[in-house]
Amino acid sequence: MKILHTIQALNTQLAQPRKEGLKIGLVPTMGALHQGHISLVKAAKKQVDIVLVSIFVNPTQFNNPEDLKAYPRTIEEDTALLLEAGVDIVFAPEAEEMYPLAPMLKFDFGYLESILEGAFRPGHFNGVGVVVSKLFNITMPDFAFFGQKDLQQVAIIRKMVEDLSFQLELVIVPTVREEDGLALSSRNRRLSMEDRAKAILLSQQLREARVELLAGRSWFDIQIEVTHKFDQCSGVRLEYFELVKTNSLEIASEANIEQVDLKNYSLCTAAFVGDVRLIDNLPI
Ligand code: AMP
Repeated sequence: MKILHTIQALNTQLAQPRKEGLKIGLVPTMGALHQGHISLVKAAKKQVDIVLVSIFVNPTQFNNPEDLKAYPRTIEEDTALLLEAGVDIVFAPEAEEMYPLAPMLKFDFGYLESILEGAFRPGHFNGVGVVVSKLFNITMPDFAFFGQKDLQQVAIIRKMVEDLSFQLELVIVPTVREEDGLALSSRNRRLSMEDRAKAILLSQQLREARVELLAGRSWFDIQIEVTHKFDQCSGVRLEYFELVKTNSLEIASEANIEQVDLKNYSLCTAAFVGDVRLIDNLPI
């Protein structure tokens, strides 16, 4: 497994496989890897000849400087995990390599970034758009692998690939969870023991809401009840709990719920557990 830090070294490494027409798969990550990331690597290994994992804690997608500072960095453990998973190349650039100067280009994803994460993290998806398009241009992959865990990110990158005619195929991998339902996340390692126990509220409420929706209960009532349950749990602060169309992210309201075909919808939530912000979602 090659570990490379510069774009030039990466280009040199990829020249031969490209010439031979080998299929390259990119798995973009911010490190602090867990089995969720490894499931993307496994999906890539099934589909491509060369698996390339990028590790880059992208400063431009953090709207909160404290969150950027606190983001876990575990490069040694990460590379050991990736070696074991059979990855071919790790691309781990420093910020100066990716951004010799602050980027001037700005992405505006319109409605797609006006809701959910976009509403609570202004500028986040601009940063995601810039870094993902840079990674696509640098690595020119045939396939790129993303997790369903970041459902809004998937919708945004899908639109960006279409708008900018990136010549690659996106592969979306289901969310990997702990046994009790908590979605794996790099941020989970920052949870205290007490907060770790509280963190199951997200996946638990998603599952309960799904059962109740399928049983025909009013979405309005479900949303109020879920909000109340979060309010009752001290140290947990709900940001949103919404039902959205999985592809367009159109938000279901009581007014349009009659026309909603539940199988095209997903429940999405974000909450602070202590000072750790977690997100999760569940397709109906
Ligand atoms: P991150 O390092 O958090 O930027 O995540 C890198 C990629 O891994 C993204 O495409 C995420 O959606 C995906 N990912 C993160 N957590 C999980 C998970 N629990 N299951 C599946 N994919 C995940």
